[in-house]
Amino acid sequence: MSSTYAQERRAAVEAVARAARVCQSVQAQISPDALEKKDRSPVTIADYASQAIVCQYLHTQLPQDPVLAEEDAVELRSGESAPFLDQIVAELTKSGLPATPETTCEWIDLGGHDGSSSRFWTLDPIDGTKGFLRKEQFAVSLALIVDGVIQVAALACPNLSTADAWDNEHGLIMSAVRGEGAWLNRLSDPHGTPQPVRVSSTSRSAAARVCESVESGHSDHSVSADIMEKLGITAPPVRLDSQAKYAVVARGEADLYLRLPTRKDYREKIWDHAGGVLVVEEAGGKVTDIDGKPLDFSRGSELSGNRGVVVTNGLVHEEVLAAVSSCMN
Ligand code: AMP
Ligand code: MG
Repeated sequence: MSSTYAQERRAAVEAVARAARVCQSVQAQISPDALEKKDRSPVTIADYASQAIVCQYLHTQLPQDPVLAEEDAVELRSGESAPFLDQIVAELTKSGLPATPETTCEWIDLGGHDGSSSRFWTLDPIDGTKGFLRKEQFAVSLALIVDGVIQVAALACPNLSTADAWDNEHGLIMSAVRGEGAWLNRLSDPHGTPQPVRVSSTSRSAAARVCESVESGHSDHSVSADIMEKLGITAPPVRLDSQAKYAVVARGEADLYLRLPTRKDYREKIWDHAGGVLVVEEAGGKVTDIDGKPLDFSRGSELSGNRGVVVTNGLVHEEVLAAVSSCMN
């Protein structure tokens, strides 16, 4: 595949694949006991390890590119976090990286860019931390933004089924390059021949299959119920954590993903969307905010010019926006 961004796509896919494998290894160690105690330490360890791996790998492949990532090593450097840091180092070492406490913090802090550069990567090392702890859906999301436009994306969904394509294996990576398409690879074979990804052809909004956050604090479930009623949708929404929702729309298993503001002052973070947005757009879908405006990735770490997010297969977009508008006002 000859592409302006071939090197970037390959590096992004490899980076999220490496990170996702470490996340899977940590997730497999979560005991039911830890879940009950609401112990967040597994996700903390995996989150930092994932960021260290992605930033370290990108730095070796594309040393000029800054990274704006969700985490930083400030707390880890404080003495109190030493036991955590040792566990992160242990996970990195298991994955083959020559990590020390010092290099681990340095790799994590490679993600400290503020978005002021014309070209930078944005990373969510574990999107859907609650899903990760429940052993459900989570994602590692990485995207390259150039002059405010997402050009390359790699989205790893370690617990999403590859069912349609390859005998019910779990773990996939979706990737995309602007203008060139979106592709699916197995996490177990990230550089194998990719399969093109396309959104659904559902054009009747009453028949739309809807997905939304599990967490009602991240997206207003009651307004989405109103919108669905307005559209004549009777099937219940499917709830799943993380940007796995974008992946599900991209491959046509859902037609609509609604993210409806729960608070006036909340601004969506770019790392929660950039990877998923390009995958859906390149699969033929459409993404706007709830007012129908394109998401503006040129404003640093937040989508400060937008409210909420509406993701569709494109065909039902206008009808959905009209229903959103009538239910939100
Ligand atoms: P999801 O798994 O789709 O529910 O989204 C998880 C993401 O929601 C996290 O990565 C947070 O950054 C983000 N988040 C946290 N608070 C809010 C909020 N009030 N509204 C929307 N998103 C939020
Ligand atoms: Mg997130």
